[in-house]
Amino acid sequence: MYQLLSFRDKLGLSAKVLEAANGVGGTWYWNRYPGARCDSESHSYAYYFSKALIQDWNWSERFPQQPEILRYLNHVADRFDLRRDIQLNTRVRSGRHDQASNRWHVISEAGEHFTATYLVTAVGCLSSANVPGIPGLSDFAGDWYHTGQWPHEGVNFSGKRVGVVGTGSTGIQAIPVIAADAGHLTVFQRTANYSLPARNASLTEEFRRYAKEHSDDIRKVMTSNTNAHPFYITDRSAFDCSDEERKAIFEAGWKKGGLEFRTAFRDLLIDEKANKTAADFIRGKIHDIVKDPKTAALLADIDHPFAAKRPPVDSQYFETYNRDNVSLVNLRETPIERITAKGIQTAAQEFELEIIVFATGFDAMTGSLLKIDIEGRNGMKLSDAWSAGPRNYLGLQVPGFPNFFTITGPGSPSVLCNMPPAIEHHVDWITECIRHMREQGIARIEATESAADYWVHEVNAAASATLLPRATHSWFLGANIPGKPRVFMPYAGGFAKYRQICADVVSKGYEGFSLSRS
Ligand code: NAP
Repeated sequence: MYQLLSFRDKLGLSAKVLEAANGVGGTWYWNRYPGARCDSESHSYAYYFSKALIQDWNWSERFPQQPEILRYLNHVADRFDLRRDIQLNTRVRSGRHDQASNRWHVISEAGEHFTATYLVTAVGCLSSANVPGIPGLSDFAGDWYHTGQWPHEGVNFSGKRVGVVGTGSTGIQAIPVIAADAGHLTVFQRTANYSLPARNASLTEEFRRYAKEHSDDIRKVMTSNTNAHPFYITDRSAFDCSDEERKAIFEAGWKKGGLEFRTAFRDLLIDEKANKTAADFIRGKIHDIVKDPKTAALLADIDHPFAAKRPPVDSQYFETYNRDNVSLVNLRETPIERITAKGIQTAAQEFELEIIVFATGFDAMTGSLLKIDIEGRNGMKLSDAWSAGPRNYLGLQVPGFPNFFTITGPGSPSVLCNMPPAIEHHVDWITECIRHMREQGIARIEATESAADYWVHEVNAAASATLLPRATHSWFLGANIPGKPRVFMPYAGGFAKYRQICADVVSKGYEGFSLSRS
């Protein structure tokens, strides 16, 4: 939506958004599962490009629920009169660059044909639902749902025997809410996960006023730090203080709630021992909260460093296992063998279920892009160019695909950040790039092969300097999708550094891009 507005209002271009859904909102349109809410602070999880927009929207909670965020995005669409250039219910099948005319030809699933000088994808990083290929799903006599394709009319869990597969951010949000309604909830856990309490609360009028009055300062913090959240990571090491002091710091973060817990020490994501101090603290909390020692041990048996996967932020997740109607199954010990007409058959037993919820994540970062048949110069397909994993420059452009831009694509820091600042940065960069092209009479821009080689190297080097690749089953690595190349996809060098690199590239005359007038 911001890219549309920028093309239209800043550059005076005619632009059209093609959207598969029957409404705006992207991830917040699709992810309507119970408990879906933001894990970033509401005052920062918003557009900052318009002061008037900041002033006229009031968030109700620290971590708002999905319907409120969807209302906000609809408000943005209306406020900036975006709907007249958004074509809904239009899934794109293919995009092909025609060299002779230097235009993109885009075809929808319905066969509609569009042409454009520039093609920008804003298909989201976590938008291609991963329904696992467990044998027997079509035999299941009950109802099943993936959280990322949730029915608009909701699901009635009342008194039902429900199974949830998956304990990532989504499962961890959904489980407490489903448990409150279900007759019995069985959680199927393959990988135990850290989770931080959200401590969600209504926002006071005073805080709302503060956030509006200080929006420039808040934006400055978000754009000058590593993760685009409205807080800085402190400069101390976990070993700059005594054990008691460290524990008190973690305790304060736990009490405050939210992702700010990660800011306690600068070395949590780069030093294994420092990381272990946080990991042990959270494991201790799980044992304190969960009354049944066997269940607590299973939940705390976490095999990767803290924050090597994006840490879920929960409301009463671990507490939910103290309910009589909730049980936990260890899929590491007894894997799912198949789905039967009656429920889920593991290596140990058959669990009879009326509803199965797959909170099994997404074919992240490349899934939605590669579902579109994208063809660049000389018939080169994006799926071939990326057969060994995504290869691009700055996460923005792919060699061989002229005038094609990817917002928050692989190779950008987006998913390691608070998303809205990352999105705004990409949109601003693309908009200014196209402004430059038009002012200078440049017809085509394309990342060079050597620039892509350099960037793939940078992305790998940045990840290797952290503990992130140590979560070997993470979607950051594509490891959650069978057969997907194992490549660390996001840029882990930090948002501020990334912004600087992108700005330097521009100041050096779009270094690493080939610009041509013909
Ligand atoms: P996810 O992190 O990929 O978690 C998927 C879960 O499903 C994992 O526990 C995974 O286990 C399990 N799973 C997958 N296939 C399975 C199978 N065949 N059998 C058993 N278990 C299986 O997905 P997600 O929870 O949807 O979260 C994805 C990302 O979306 C998050 O990291 C976050 O960035 C974003 N998100 C954000 C919010 C928010 O803003 N509040 C909320 C939800 C999601 P393994 O780990 O063993 O593979």
